[in-house]
Amino acid sequence: MRTLITGGTVIDTEPAVRVLPGADVLVEDGLIAAVGPDAAGRGKAGEPGRAGAAGSGAADVEVVDATGMIVLPGFVDTHRHLWQSVLRSLAADMTLGDYLGVVLGRLGPAYRPEDVYAANLWGALEALDAGITAVHDWSHIQLTPEHTDAAIEALRESGIRAVFAYAHPGDGAARREDEVRRAAALLGGPGLVTAGLAASGPVYGSAEGAEADWRLARELGLQISLHATGTGAVERLHAAGLLGPDVMVVHGNGFTDEAVKLLAGSGGVASVTPAVEMRMGFGDPETGRFRAAGIPTGLGIDTVTNTPGDMFAAMRAALAADGLRGGTLTAADLLGIATIEGAAVLGMQDRIGSLRPGKQADLVLLRTDRPGLAPVHDPIATVVASAGPADVDTVLVAGRIVKRGGRLVHTDPSGALTLASGSAAHVVAAAEGRTAAAR
Ligand SMILES: [Zn+2]
Repeated sequence: MRTLITGGTVIDTEPAVRVLPGADVLVEDGLIAAVGPDAAGRGKAGEPGRAGAAGSGAADVEVVDATGMIVLPGFVDTHRHLWQSVLRSLAADMTLGDYLGVVLGRLGPAYRPEDVYAANLWGALEALDAGITAVHDWSHIQLTPEHTDAAIEALRESGIRAVFAYAHPGDGAARREDEVRRAAALLGGPGLVTAGLAASGPVYGSAEGAEADWRLARELGLQISLHATGTGAVERLHAAGLLGPDVMVVHGNGFTDEAVKLLAGSGGVASVTPAVEMRMGFGDPETGRFRAAGIPTGLGIDTVTNTPGDMFAAMRAALAADGLRGGTLTAADLLGIATIEGAAVLGMQDRIGSLRPGKQADLVLLRTDRPGLAPVHDPIATVVASAGPADVDTVLVAGRIVKRGGRLVHTDPSGALTLASGSAAHVVAAAEGRTAAAR
């Protein structure tokens, strides 16, 4: 199966973020096969030695006319709690304490497995609709093994590329190493959904739990992701011998210079979620500081309970925050952070994040004829400063078109909306019932 995307303005991100004039993109069997003015010719003739080229001609190439559009690699969201999609905007005015008490303390425990399915599916569709083709789902809603199955099933159903990062339902006796092993085995084969470990310790959980989690993750070859802000967190990881290239620190606001140095030296990576960090008062987003220290740094949406679910908003929040601190980041930097550098944060830089031939064909096509985008002087600046989810016309994940002509086509969004609405109503009502009963 081949797809030729022709006539668009192509932005690639490797080895640098730049516009490729007059380029077409040829996709073959889910991979980027060729990019450039000659990609169309190769699409017609095939290439010697290319699997599937024999006997194939122009007839089996699906042509996507990208005239008037910007073509770029799909966005990589390095930190998101997809299960919260049915709680959208519910925490817009909450402090971190309120969020922990209400969203994690009362609403989360009201989720049934079907609510996790509905929320993960709706959240993944929201991401795809906005051009996010890969997401790290930091999933701390594993109340039972059925919840875990539901979360994974929804990710698979959606067509998104995802890391399902399992978080134990609690510390101590509530830790479920057996479930981490089961998820890792379930997701170990080929497929768009892979496994990771979401650790609560040592910052939000016990040091003993953290040491056990690191042992388990390293045995299973899973990336470990943890929330951490302020002073002491990285220093403690370092002292316990837990830092390493398989560790993703989320947020990092207020890290000491020593912590930044330790994280950089360990090969660890960072996910900055600028909108949430500013709204909840975590501190200045550290995008530019981490990057300057050589730490691979990506952006995350985190939670749609109080911020938007698209990468355009995250890029702009990061850029605005950087401006307040003196501003060294450019629009091109942000586009790289949201794509190829995000891919590196997930350890997927050899598979996604740019248009290098051989990589997975995760692509976004943006219309430029809408009022908020035209006229385009600089396509890179336009994407970062002006674009939004409504401008996303077409999205491909591993070569499969999941959005076309501005509409989601892989999964029925109306069915998903019905499920999400039902779960939203159930979760809120059940949480209120529990609260009332407790009074
Ligand atoms: Zn988070």
